[in-house]
Amino acid sequence: MAKAIVLSYNVATLLRAAPGTERRYTVEPTELAMYDDLRLAAPIAGEVRLARTTRSILARASLSTAIEVSCSRCLTPIVAPISVEIEEEALPTIDIDTGQPLDPGDEPDALRLDAHHELDLDEPIREAISLAEPIALLCRPDCRGLCPVCGVDLNSNTDHAHAEEVLDPRLAALAEWRDTNKTN
Ligand SMILES: [Zn+2]
Ligand SMILES: [Zn+2]
Repeated sequence: MAKAIVLSYNVATLLRAAPGTERRYTVEPTELAMYDDLRLAAPIAGEVRLARTTRSILARASLSTAIEVSCSRCLTPIVAPISVEIEEEALPTIDIDTGQPLDPGDEPDALRLDAHHELDLDEPIREAISLAEPIALLCRPDCRGLCPVCGVDLNSNTDHAHAEEVLDPRLAALAEWRDTNKTN
């Protein structure tokens, strides 16, 4: 399914400006559809700066949002704030003065403005967010995690314990050896 473009900027005016000219845009809290395995837990907000270079538009963005991840100890879903910095150069498709199509030349993979000089930043932003490392990966600093023997959540089962022999790895191995030889 095609995703609606959310963060798009028309740079026709900026393309006619002198190299070095910069425009700043505030990104008001915005929802952005992500890849299937990732869900945003907060809208994206921040700032986008677009600068005219001699041959392109240089887009820089400082954005913050939050993603849903699992606590690395107990696997409870948690909301982790992230911030991303993006720097992308976008080349024109159409010459702003002549209206003629420009040759993609030897940079077929470069980010391109569309034929109406629209700069679509959704995909670079999506990519940066999917690569971002969350700051907090624990549901709380003292998360007790899961029982290494049976997987029970030790945060909600504070008295949880097993008989001594199961917790001792040597005895556990012995018990397993005994069980194996019983069934054979
Ligand atoms: Zn946890
Ligand atoms: Zn257990």
